[in-house]
Amino acid sequence: MNRLPDHVDLVIRHARIDDDAPLTDIVIDAGRIVALETDWHGTAREEIDAAGRAVVPGFIEPHIHLDKAMWHRARPSVAGTLEEAIRVTADLKSRRDRTDMLVRARRVLDMAVRNGTVALRAHPDVDPIQQLLGVETMLELRDEYRDLLDLQIVAFPQEGLIKAPGTLQLMEEGLRLGADVAGGCPYNELNREDTERHIDAVFDLAQRFDVDIDMHADFADDTADARFFATAYIARRTIETGYQGRVSLGHVTSLGSLPPEQLAPLVDLLAEAHIHVVTLPATDLYLGARHDASNPRRGLTPLRALIDGGVNVAYSSNNVRNAFTPFGNADVLTIGNLLAHAAQFGTPSQQAQILAMGTVNAARAIGLASDYGVAPGRIADLVVLDTHWIADALLDIPPRTWVIKRGRITVTTHHCCEIHRAHSTEEV
Ligand SMILES: [Zn+2]
Repeated sequence: MNRLPDHVDLVIRHARIDDDAPLTDIVIDAGRIVALETDWHGTAREEIDAAGRAVVPGFIEPHIHLDKAMWHRARPSVAGTLEEAIRVTADLKSRRDRTDMLVRARRVLDMAVRNGTVALRAHPDVDPIQQLLGVETMLELRDEYRDLLDLQIVAFPQEGLIKAPGTLQLMEEGLRLGADVAGGCPYNELNREDTERHIDAVFDLAQRFDVDIDMHADFADDTADARFFATAYIARRTIETGYQGRVSLGHVTSLGSLPPEQLAPLVDLLAEAHIHVVTLPATDLYLGARHDASNPRRGLTPLRALIDGGVNVAYSSNNVRNAFTPFGNADVLTIGNLLAHAAQFGTPSQQAQILAMGTVNAARAIGLASDYGVAPGRIADLVVLDTHWIADALLDIPPRTWVIKRGRITVTTHHCCEIHRAHSTEEV
């Protein structure tokens, strides 16, 4: 075992990393956590006194659209339907304004960094309208933000593949330029046959480039339209191609409409394929069930059944302030709180599951799990929350007092929000 150096880069003293254990010193050197000790005696170039604050691994957004964020003023949502959002966005992206895209994406990335996000997976549109502008812009931002967060890029065919000829070639070019993941949007085809061709083409592309797959799938209130019910097909393709563990699916809302006896075999299939499901509650709640005249459905993936069935489930912001989702601060804790309400995850263990979904589960969903977490040897990507119990993180949505990326302090908000009373409240 390597001896611990006496002088390290950073130590976080008195950190609450476990609500049932004593406070811990987190010792960090060369970008990694090198020890967790109750009272570390060495010295550090830089010291933080967490003073009992909760410290969790940095948040992860496994599914976000930076290229079309912040279009809420240019073209606000009116009908609030998926069809409107796709139509409005197609119009806006036809402008192909690179500077505008950089400005909007940076606004979201800055929010994410301040909120303690250390990695995110962006899904820029790739299609004959926008061509490769989204991928090129994300590549530029990946470099610009490399000290602040890890940015993965999915080449995402929002307009379909069969329906939008030339898109597959653009995706290939996007992967050659440096995109990390093959995306998919199989519901945006004209019929079920084309949906399956779309899925086959994405698997073929991913295999040729040896990259992971991340598709938008089953984004509807029910399974009436076969284009919006492709999970089983994707799971079978995953197993046939040996892609278990390398496929993530966003939305998957139509499964929420299935009775338990139909859902159970599908959950088993997803678990067998080691498919990661990324629920996107802000968008799903906003666009879902628009045609329900009364008591509208929640439009969420069946969270409890998936988790109980052994499927890795994470969540993410998806869209931030556009026709798909008019709200958003790129804050994993805010979305987690929303999800906990909507999915009725209220018990202490369910709340802990939600926090895990925004951290460790999300890391698994985008292939970062082996280097992630508050443990010796892992990369020092951490958030010090201005609250004293980890269990309070989702309740308080506290300020992020310090954010640490690869052992370097990237955000400090210490002393930003103290209340200054005129009188002591001690005796009250
Ligand atoms: Zn999306």
